[in-house]
Amino acid sequence: MCQDCITRVALSRRSLLRGATSATLSAGALFWAGRAAATASAEPAPTPDHVMNELVAGNTRHVRGVQTCTDFLANRAALAKGQHPLAIVLACADSRVAPEYVFDQAPGRLFTVRVAGNFVDVEGLASMEYAVDHLGVPVIVVLGHSSCGALTAAVGVEQNHTALPGHLSALTDQLSIPVRAALAGNPADPVAAAIRQNVVYSMERLANGPSIVATAVAAGKVKIVGGIYDLSTGGVALVSR
Ligand SMILES: [Zn+2]
Repeated sequence: MCQDCITRVALSRRSLLRGATSATLSAGALFWAGRAAATASAEPAPTPDHVMNELVAGNTRHVRGVQTCTDFLANRAALAKGQHPLAIVLACADSRVAPEYVFDQAPGRLFTVRVAGNFVDVEGLASMEYAVDHLGVPVIVVLGHSSCGALTAAVGVEQNHTALPGHLSALTDQLSIPVRAALAGNPADPVAAAIRQNVVYSMERLANGPSIVATAVAAGKVKIVGGIYDLSTGGVALVSR
């Protein structure tokens, strides 16, 4: 981790300690202790709100072009011993949407699950369950993005019965429910509406189990957040369910 990152994380954790209530810290410490075998950390678990503040601040740096996490050698030895990610990010496989850059986070900070169209399938859900159950990650970000090729293709299939080569229909099949829901509203921009509805649909799938993730959400241990990354500006607009 670069020196700027180390300093920023240290400051973030100190402000966390100052701002949290004793009850919050106690619950966080107990939760973190339950993960000790997997993570071996004495740090109290950050709350979902603190993680979100960190991600919003990182995206602001990304928009401004002032990335701070650029040294990938400094923290390599520590990361070889274990990981303590702050957030899970379900993102598209699109080469322009790299979560670590979008949120200006160093290696080890984000547990990423990526597939074209950023939908929830059973393998992705299992990956997220691991991160929630074994690593104690308190936030899941479902990250769509503007001009998504997978959602554009899925809209084409629904509107024009477009035939796709190879296995591509496996992707658009997964996107058909939110795409149909979006098109039912006769939106002015069908692709943009489908991108947003797909984020909402994925958030609902994660929250409404049955799954380890849904149980953790119901218990207040995990927060699910939606966002759409704008390829033109670099900004992430939050999406509500
Ligand atoms: Zn995409």
